[in-house]
Amino acid sequence: MLVTYDGIVIARREVGENSVFIDILTDEQGIIEASAHGANKINSSILSAAALFSYSTFSLSKNKLRYTVNSAKPKFTFHELGKDIEKLALASYFAQSVRYCTPSEQPQDSIVRFFAIALFEIMHGRPLASVKAAFELRYSRELGFAPNLVGCDNCGEYDCADGMYFLPDKAKLICADCLYVDNAVKLLPETLFAMRNIIFSPLDRAFRFNISKDAEKQLGDICESYFLSRVERSFPTLTYYKKIKIN
Ligand SMILES: [Zn+2]
Repeated sequence: MLVTYDGIVIARREVGENSVFIDILTDEQGIIEASAHGANKINSSILSAAALFSYSTFSLSKNKLRYTVNSAKPKFTFHELGKDIEKLALASYFAQSVRYCTPSEQPQDSIVRFFAIALFEIMHGRPLASVKAAFELRYSRELGFAPNLVGCDNCGEYDCADGMYFLPDKAKLICADCLYVDNAVKLLPETLFAMRNIIFSPLDRAFRFNISKDAEKQLGDICESYFLSRVERSFPTLTYYKKIKIN
């Protein structure tokens, strides 16, 4: 059976001298593992389309559950990520997260667009700490774990003068007047603004906000631990990214 899907290569495994297995992220079938024969040959027509982080149209033949790449045409390339080790490390963390959380052979809702936007924001000079936080919180939402950031869970207050607190375990906000638990994080106003932007904006604007260094640090801590606790694991690529990041 022949099928055609648009997708992004999120992992590669070399097989022998010239061939590779690639994991392709698609909306139609989640993650597809496909073998690409001869993909490493310098004159291969699929060399560039099968490279890591290539967004390509793949023509595949499917035999039972095995896919083979017949041909592939690049639509957009994120190869530039490879020039900057910090950017590449962050993209690898995103790829590993998506690979872990996306089932095979099941349709996905706009996962390719989400992942492409995240890579695009890394590539185009947005502060990496903000991109990382936005990815973690928005992806939590995409996976069905959106926190309720509309207002205080008790009284509905949108923005209490004495402060708003986030309850990470309960995925809720509570205002200073209604505060009743210890494990609440008092949010800097900028942090709450950024979190609401990430959760409520259209996808292409979810990554776009400006934030001071202090609030960026708080946002980063909250979003990382929120995401990891929802997916119930950590990622080696995250450990690596944190080790090499500059600040
Ligand atoms: Zn309240």
